[in-house]
Amino acid sequence: MAELTDLRSAAALLSWDERVGMPSGAASTHGEMLATIKRVEHEKFTSSDTGTLIEQAETEVSTLDADAPARRKVAVTARDFDKATRVPSRFVVTHTNAVSAAHQAWREARERSDFSRFEPHLKRVLELKQEYVSFFAPADHPYDVLLDDFEPGARTAEIQRMFDALRPRQVALAKAVQERPAVDDAFLHVPYAKNDLLEFAIDVISRFGFDWTRGRQDMSAHPFAAAISSNDVRITTRFVDRNPFELLFGMLHEAGHALYEQGVSQEWNRTSLIGGASLGVHESQSRLWENIVGRSMPFWMHFYPGLQKRFPSQLANVTLDQFCGAISRVKPSLIRVEADEVTYNLHVMLRVEMEIALLTGGLDTKDAEECWNSKMADYLGVTPGNSADGVLQDMHWSVGLFGYFPTYVIGNVVSAQLWSAFQDAEPAWEGQIQAGDFAPLRTWLQREIHQHGRRYQPRELVRRVTGNDIDAVRYLTYLETKYS
Ligand SMILES: [Zn+2]
Repeated sequence: MAELTDLRSAAALLSWDERVGMPSGAASTHGEMLATIKRVEHEKFTSSDTGTLIEQAETEVSTLDADAPARRKVAVTARDFDKATRVPSRFVVTHTNAVSAAHQAWREARERSDFSRFEPHLKRVLELKQEYVSFFAPADHPYDVLLDDFEPGARTAEIQRMFDALRPRQVALAKAVQERPAVDDAFLHVPYAKNDLLEFAIDVISRFGFDWTRGRQDMSAHPFAAAISSNDVRITTRFVDRNPFELLFGMLHEAGHALYEQGVSQEWNRTSLIGGASLGVHESQSRLWENIVGRSMPFWMHFYPGLQKRFPSQLANVTLDQFCGAISRVKPSLIRVEADEVTYNLHVMLRVEMEIALLTGGLDTKDAEECWNSKMADYLGVTPGNSADGVLQDMHWSVGLFGYFPTYVIGNVVSAQLWSAFQDAEPAWEGQIQAGDFAPLRTWLQREIHQHGRRYQPRELVRRVTGNDIDAVRYLTYLETKYS
């Protein structure tokens, strides 16, 4: 596993470089390097030798306590091995080619805002997803198989229950907020000097506890976090003129991912336990730092005077209340990645409901755009004027990512559950945040979540920390308290 982990780290480093530092002429050389590393890693991992070693190790650890690290390591490795070997390599090649064509078609379709150009590719990708599901038969629900790749152990029925709890109250909350006078956020959309905002954002994540000796920060076209290992975690952000504060909130978000990876126990280095429990748990960390902390009054009581001093011409006449209102403004919109906290989950639920219907035959790809538009009208009260701002806006389906979207909602839901558990554990939290002291929060998260890496599956991890299953109630309470 040490060698395999090294290969995976090397691939992650190359991928980061492709998005941040690579000269454009090196694209094909990089593509070949990455393909070779991934192929060697896949061959080594899925070999019959690995299977034999796993069987031997399973026997060796069978008498250990169920929670013993060695036993957990073997269990996680066995699970990964099972998943990797059930899928025939001819399928992997077919899938890679199909999504490469689909992604190209999606780009063209989006540029021309013409869903019909993408529709046959969507149909083909779905057929392959159905074939993929068949490799894991029998499943309670076909969508469980896709979900499990991103959220180990999660079930479609649970997700649907969570959505049924969230949907009516989030739709009602979004409507109620819309009926109040609109919040003025014009001062967020005037020119801000990029370098001054960048310095400010770097100061904030340093306070959060981002470890610069084991991480770095750069600019890229789309913000992301890349964990090469827990000792090398890299984040990016971007600057766009029409929305300068995306630089700040994007960085807070990615710093949440980075703190998770930097906090994984050093004992798990070069084992199957490095990384996070799931995409949903990962997203709970980024959302917690970006939204629950980064868009809160106590946070800005500490940071706003400094921000005002840096940007007197933009903010001198803007009060703390006005600023906090503006950064939490609710406005139903067409685009998921620009959505506010109240409407964000609604964007995601719409996609997941469609994915389930597409996969199980309840929805034909030819009717996908119509379905999208009618759900947008029902949930958000807005209807896209064109395909590019509607059904074609996200790249996920074009690259074969089905089962991925639910992790965004799980992230929001879990962030509120963890936040509530932290408040119980640390009654002085508000004063700490007002004083810019994030060590108690970071230390608590590190102890309860980060250090474990992949040792526990999401459901088990959340239960250990909060005493409860993953459940929408805390998130709804958080939203309704804040936005009413
Ligand atoms: Zn994220």
